[in-house]
Amino acid sequence: FDPALWVDGKRLMGKKLAELLRQHIKEETAKTGLKPGLAVILVGDDAASQIYVAGKEKAALELGFDSRIVRLPANTTQEALVAEIHKFNVDASVHGILVQLPLPAHLNESQILQAIVAEKDADGFHYLNQGKLAAGIAATLPCTPAGIALMLRELAAAKSHPAADLTGRHAVVVGRSNIVGKPMAQLLLSGLNMTVTICHSKTHNLQRFVADADVLVSATGVRGVIDEKMVKAGAIVIDVGMHRIDGKVTGDLIMSEIENKASYYTPVPGGVGPMTIAMLLFNTYQNAQRMRAAGTRL
Ligand code: NDP
Repeated sequence: FDPALWVDGKRLMGKKLAELLRQHIKEETAKTGLKPGLAVILVGDDAASQIYVAGKEKAALELGFDSRIVRLPANTTQEALVAEIHKFNVDASVHGILVQLPLPAHLNESQILQAIVAEKDADGFHYLNQGKLAAGIAATLPCTPAGIALMLRELAAAKSHPAADLTGRHAVVVGRSNIVGKPMAQLLLSGLNMTVTICHSKTHNLQRFVADADVLVSATGVRGVIDEKMVKAGAIVIDVGMHRIDGKVTGDLIMSEIENKASYYTPVPGGVGPMTIAMLLFNTYQNAQRMRAAGTRL
C-alpha cells in the first residue's frame, strides 16, 4: 500500500491503512466468490464490549461477510458457552469465531478460547496458532500485533522512508501478554528480522532498554511507565495502550513529547486500534480461503 496514502508526516495512520486493507479484502472476497462468516459471542453487558462487538459487525457487513452475533447473559455457565461455540465449530457457513473478552470472572477464559476449533480461530488465541507462530509456521495471527507488523512491513517496503529499514535493529516490546506483547515480539523477530527485547513489570531499569530501542512498542495499558524523554532520537514508536481520560481516548504515551524525537509513531486514536479490526476480518477471510482450499466441511 502506497505510504503516501496512509503515512502522514511522522504519523502512522492505522485508520487509513486499515481502510485500504479492508477495501483489498472486499475486492478479493468478491473476486473469489467467498462469503466469509464471522461469529461473535458476547457474554454479559460490559458497555465497552458492546461497542467493540457492534464495530466488528458493522465492519464485517461492509465487506459483504456474513455476520452472526450471539449475546448471552452474564450468568451464562461454562458448559452453555462451550455449547454455543460448538454450534459455530460445526457450522460450515462460519469461518471465524470470536469470543469477546473480557469474560465474566466465573468463566475460564483459557478453556473457552481453546473450545474454538483452530481452523476457525479469528483472534489467533488458540494454542495451535500460538505454537505455530512461535515455530515460524503460517498461522492465524493475533490481530493487534499482526496489524502492527503489517504497518512496519509496509513502511519498510517504502524505500522513501530510510528509517524504516528494520532488519537487525533493536525492537523493545514493553508488555508480555499472550494477546499483544509475546506475539508482537515473535513477529518482530521472525517476520521483520529484528533483535528483540521483551520487558515487563519485573524488568530492572526499563528506561535503559527504552533508550536503546529503534522500534519501541508500548503495550502495558499503564500510563507513566515509559519516560518519553528517554526515547531514542529517530525511533519508531508504537502505542498500543487505550485509555479514556476526561472522555478522550489516549494511549500509554504522551505523544507531544514523542513527536519531537520519533521518526514515526502511531497516534491514539487512529493508529493501532483500527488495524486490529481489519486484521480480524483478514483472519476470517483467510480462514475461509484455507477451508475452501482444503475442502473442509466442519
Ligand atoms: P495485559 O494487562 O494483559 O498486559 C500488560 C503487560 O504490561 C504485562 O505484561 C505487564 O507486565 C506489563 N506492565 C504493566 N505494568 C508495567 C510496568 N510498570 N513496567 C513494565 N511493564 C509493565 O494487557 P494487554 O497486553 O491485553 O493490553 C495492553 C494494552 O493494550 C491495554 O491498554 C489494552 O487496552 C490495549 N490494547 C489495545 C488494543 C488495540 O486494538 N488498540 C488491542 C489489545 C489491547 P507483567 O506481565 O509483569 O504483569
